[in-house]
Amino acid sequence: MNSSSSSNSTQAFLPFCSPSIDDADIAAVVETLRSGWITTGPRCGELEQAICDRTGAQSAVAVSSATAAMHLVLKAMGIGPGDEVITPSMTWVSTPNMIHLMGATPVFVDVDRDTLLVSAESVEAAVTDRTKAIIPVHYAGVPCDLESLRAVANKHDIPLIEDAAHAIGTRYRSTEIGQSGHAIFSLHPIKNITTGEGGILVSDDASLADEVRRLRFHGLAAEAWDRNQQGRSPQVEVQSPGFKYNLPDMNASLGISQLKRLDDFIDRRKVIANRYLEELADVPGIEPLAFPDWDHRHAWHLFIIRVDEAEAGIDRERFMANLKERGIGTGIHFRATHTHRWYRENGFQAPGGLEHSTWNSERICSIPFFPSMSDSDVDRVIGGIRDVCAAETMTKGSST
Ligand SMILES: *Cc1c(COP(=O)(O)O)cnc(C)c1O
Repeated sequence: MNSSSSSNSTQAFLPFCSPSIDDADIAAVVETLRSGWITTGPRCGELEQAICDRTGAQSAVAVSSATAAMHLVLKAMGIGPGDEVITPSMTWVSTPNMIHLMGATPVFVDVDRDTLLVSAESVEAAVTDRTKAIIPVHYAGVPCDLESLRAVANKHDIPLIEDAAHAIGTRYRSTEIGQSGHAIFSLHPIKNITTGEGGILVSDDASLADEVRRLRFHGLAAEAWDRNQQGRSPQVEVQSPGFKYNLPDMNASLGISQLKRLDDFIDRRKVIANRYLEELADVPGIEPLAFPDWDHRHAWHLFIIRVDEAEAGIDRERFMANLKERGIGTGIHFRATHTHRWYRENGFQAPGGLEHSTWNSERICSIPFFPSMSDSDVDRVIGGIRDVCAAETMTKGSST
């Protein structure tokens, strides 16, 4: 199995992720470009409907990113100074950033060491009379235990906003994420489907969805498409000042096309994941995430391993650098928020400690994982990881 080291220099760099764009996706965008209407209009509405059809959600509002959707939901819920919002430190920084920028305080909870999911117990322990929202993350495409989280949220009458950036296509028990409650999907190019940039709120609260819809476009009661092309009055008033977070039809048309391929993408991701799980199982110190007990469908957004230096003989930073030398890209999802400079300097620690978040933050590594990877790309990653770890063990062995 040393085929991977023999032809390094001739192989193109293998990124850790890449969007899977086919001719139908391209044709869909070109059709919009030729249609005479390229910003938010009929395609955006069609994408929202398709997401509702797929997830069973009652309302969907598409915006320019999941970060924008989070901002608007927090705003629509009236979250501001003096309020606390519970979220894991192991998340993308966009959520804590938005909580802070609304004038509220992110309260971090630790995650399970091996699933990176928050538990109802840790959330419950962080609830105070200032808590105004709970934002769990369905990490890497695996759902949190929604039943127990919803029980805590309902008991304290606090809204649950599911960060489903990784979880389009995920099922918790037999229900699709987004079918009830509030969830936010990301359509960034690294996510399971993409609109270039984009995000979408799904909600069973029609008035919250309406408020987010107004806030995404200046706080106006109707958008330009309705006024210019659909016979609505050109006169429209600001209901309350809003933002400019609408999703253009160019992007939405890509999303409509991508959504049709979601299940094929997930099937292919699952095949690749099973190979990684099987063929890396005997590499010391390379530990994948574990699966939770509850019934679920994994959307396989990321393939994350933890590099444990004591066993692997190599630390995560050198592991990533050595793979890069072999033309193999990796990523970190995520560096825990409380370890980022601003959060460190401003004292964001958690009531119950963040031991597992810190432990994972120092060890996690996302390896190449996307549907258009070929079987030989997968061979190359497996061979590369084995070589990198074996090379370290040999050097260690000979130098001691
Ligand atoms: C990607 C991501 C986001 C933000 O998505 P954008 O569309 O890039 O704003 C939020 N949370 C998590 C967990 C993510 O991975």
